[in-house]
Amino acid sequence: NLSDKLDKALHLLKGHGKITEVNVADTLKEVRRALLDADVNFKIAKEFTNTVKEKALGQDVLTTLQPGQLMVKLVKDELTELMGGDAAGINLSGNPSVILMSGLQGSGKTTFSGKLANFLKTKKTKKPLLVACDIYRPAAINQLHVVGEQIGVEVYSEEGNKNPVEIAQNAIKHAKANGFNVVIVDTAGRLAVDEQMMTEIANVHKAIQPQETLFVVDAMTGQDAVNTAKAFNDRLNFDGVILTKLDGDTRGGAAISIKSVVNKPIKFIGTGEKMEAIDVFYPNRMADRILGMGDVVSLVERAQEQYDEDEARKLQKKIAKNEFGFDDFLSQIQQVKKMGNMKDLVGMIPGAGKAMKDVEIEDDAFKHIEAIIHSMTPDERSKPSVLDAKRKNRIAKGSGTSIQQVNQLLKQFNQMSKMMKMMQGGGAKNMMRMMGG
Ligand code: GDP
Ligand code: MG
Repeated sequence: NLSDKLDKALHLLKGHGKITEVNVADTLKEVRRALLDADVNFKIAKEFTNTVKEKALGQDVLTTLQPGQLMVKLVKDELTELMGGDAAGINLSGNPSVILMSGLQGSGKTTFSGKLANFLKTKKTKKPLLVACDIYRPAAINQLHVVGEQIGVEVYSEEGNKNPVEIAQNAIKHAKANGFNVVIVDTAGRLAVDEQMMTEIANVHKAIQPQETLFVVDAMTGQDAVNTAKAFNDRLNFDGVILTKLDGDTRGGAAISIKSVVNKPIKFIGTGEKMEAIDVFYPNRMADRILGMGDVVSLVERAQEQYDEDEARKLQKKIAKNEFGFDDFLSQIQQVKKMGNMKDLVGMIPGAGKAMKDVEIEDDAFKHIEAIIHSMTPDERSKPSVLDAKRKNRIAKGSGTSIQQVNQLLKQFNQMSKMMKMMQGGGAKNMMRMMGG
């Protein structure tokens, strides 16, 4: 699967200190393949990898990071950028604000209309009205009524009226007269783009001048989504995209393709059939999803933020001079903790997530250790060899631990000091690994 492929792509770069034309080529090939697997349009995937390549070449790789990891960060940043940077909201400035739904039949317009009404309703200041303009199937009008009842939102429909423009206009009048400040117009769709449908929705669009025209698209339709999006955008110049059916395994590559082709923000996603299954679209989360891997990127980011190379160098000197003590130990623990809790950290390592799934890691695995060290005097911390039975007893009492726990920590500390001497050169990175393992 995708995640394995990217893992492989990472390995290809292992051991190189700088990103170069040669070592980047294979990785980019894998990234391109990953995008294609996620249903990203071929041309777009190619353009994308070219952009990443330009940005990647010649970048120095932090000592703590593998070039492959840096590449993944570049890939993710670029993906996020491509999908629209910051999350885009819905324009609700009108009174009433009119929102028009467009899209193919089965894309999820009716469901999303309900979800959006439900979402807005919780905002207290919003009183939404749902409008049934799918006049071809009585079942469709019924479906919207069922949804409306479920969420406690009024549905406007006109039995027997076959003119969606009229229905929509009447609904807006009804809204004005009855204090609704958001009008959500659900429309008819066809199984494929056809002229009659386009003309109809274009007419409704022209007549009611919505603040927001939303194009609803099934994320599972993959490559087809691009053509549909383009056809609707050519006619409606819509304001935003709703990506539905992003539950389950759908990778959502359609998000990238659509954004590249029509250049409109994706505003919400649908993640299930229930009314609550709606989420604001976050490009960075979507990038994670498309890359389909453990969250390497945030691990890389956190490492970049937190890792203090000077600190590491100082530490190495201390180890070399045999001056490593409990204070250093403590600051190392704090370093690790700054990066997140252990479970998070382990989950971010590609491959490890699966293997460690069933292993219990306490979030506060270091609590006792810290308490014990805090109960030591500065002298004891820098020269642990002075710790005799009497001192250990005092420390155990002071830290609320047992003498066994104190002994265990001392043992770990001694082992670690020995190992660190042996692995000199690895510094804090290796130490973190030891503490994690
Ligand atoms: P419309 O023809 O565009 O109005 O589409 P509908 O709203 O009737 O949805 C078509 C089908 O897709 C229905 O069975 C919905 O329950 C389902 N559906 C809509 N949105 C989602 C979603 O986000 N996830 C899942 N799993 N199903 C959805
Ligand atoms: Mg419908």
